[in-house]
Amino acid sequence: MLSVFSAPARYTQGVNATVILGREMAGLGLEGPALIVAGKSAVAQLFDTWKQTLAEVGCGFRVHSFGGECTLTEISLIRRAAEALPARIIIGAGGGKALDAARATAAELSLPFVSCPTLASTDAPCSAVSIIYTEAGVVAEVRILPNNPVLVLVDTQVVVQAPPRFLISGMGDALATWFEARACAAANAKNLRGGRSTRSALALAELCYRTLLKDGAAAIEAARARRISPAFERIVEANTLLSGLGFESSGLAAAHSIHNGLTMAPQTRAFYHGEKVAFGTLVQLVMEESPLPEIEEVIGFCIQVGLPVTLAQIGLQDLPREILEKIAVRATQPGESIHNEPFEVSSAQVAAAILRADELGRSWQDRRQATSRKA
Ligand SMILES: [Zn+2]
Repeated sequence: MLSVFSAPARYTQGVNATVILGREMAGLGLEGPALIVAGKSAVAQLFDTWKQTLAEVGCGFRVHSFGGECTLTEISLIRRAAEALPARIIIGAGGGKALDAARATAAELSLPFVSCPTLASTDAPCSAVSIIYTEAGVVAEVRILPNNPVLVLVDTQVVVQAPPRFLISGMGDALATWFEARACAAANAKNLRGGRSTRSALALAELCYRTLLKDGAAAIEAARARRISPAFERIVEANTLLSGLGFESSGLAAAHSIHNGLTMAPQTRAFYHGEKVAFGTLVQLVMEESPLPEIEEVIGFCIQVGLPVTLAQIGLQDLPREILEKIAVRATQPGESIHNEPFEVSSAQVAAAILRADELGRSWQDRRQATSRKA
């Protein structure tokens, strides 16, 4: 098997980065007209800047307002808008779902894709992957596209305006990266590009985890105060670039399959991707029989930054046996990344690990409450 590493052609991050979007695109040889697929708040915050920066380089554009879910229907609506223009480039601006829908459409039309995340809530922006949902909100397809974005531009002045829960959720998604990368390397499993991981991708994934531990708490404090600090910038980079390169070039494992399983329970719908992935990470570590200090480091981090460590925290208190089984069966269906773990995985084992992870999370919470009462 060959080693394969993939990444966007360029990554630009910083305060008011949108101001140079036009110049960045022109510098990469990209020409309009552009279709910008954007959510409402992205349009409200960025429309005037787009007008200015794209006019600077003579790039015409039109905005398609994103419907809110990355479904096949939404993709065909975007496609129609792009063909009507006709667009020569597609820009996605918004959260993970808006980017996924815009990116999938760009791939269908063989157009270059520019990714402008307005949240640091998932590691999707840099990747060549779109997660497509059914109208009911269940994961229908993980579509691997031929190309990564030509440009990923992250404006931290916009990212900092979002409610901190998005940044926290991004940390949950980023938390899984190192552990899934490590599992894939141990199993000699294929990454998202069908190749073997590289030392480079593993190093990025590990740096991602270290950055979360070091800067996570300070970044949330900054986000709560709507303040851009060096720690905030580093966490935005960890959630977006380090985690993005790490997962795509090393591979996914159990944590994301557990997430996919959890989407089967309607009670988890109110919770973000990264929140479910964080709990999935804990389940993965239990399945892997990781040493207790490592599991405790992860639980401690989750509690510190406000990520879920129990079933109740993702809407699954008093989980009925049949829903638990449904989750476990979905998580282990053929083709799921859980089979990248370096051992055989059964749905019974997943169900048991979910309950054990919940038990560990609850006992940690109880211990913390006891210590804070003493203090
Ligand atoms: Zn993810």
